[in-house]
Amino acid sequence: MKKEYTNGDVAIVWEQEKCIHSAVCVKGLGEVFKPREKPWIQMGAVSSEDIIAQVKQCPSGAISIKEEK
Ligand code: SF4
Repeated sequence: MKKEYTNGDVAIVWEQEKCIHSAVCVKGLGEVFKPREKPWIQMGAVSSEDIIAQVKQCPSGAISIKEEK
């Protein structure tokens, strides 16, 4: 199952099955990755550059970036 969360510029593609719950994303960018909330990925607060940089740190590939433009 894939889900997408967009800010109109970039989207995070989320593949739950791949996630190994390392919490790298949550520790690195807690304004976006909020595992206790729904939706758990909230794109509002942070620049696209910061989102892209954090997504690249994901060790499992559960989150990836899709350019919207
Ligand atoms: S960094 Fe990747 S593997 Fe770790 S919790 Fe986030 S999405 Fe899952």
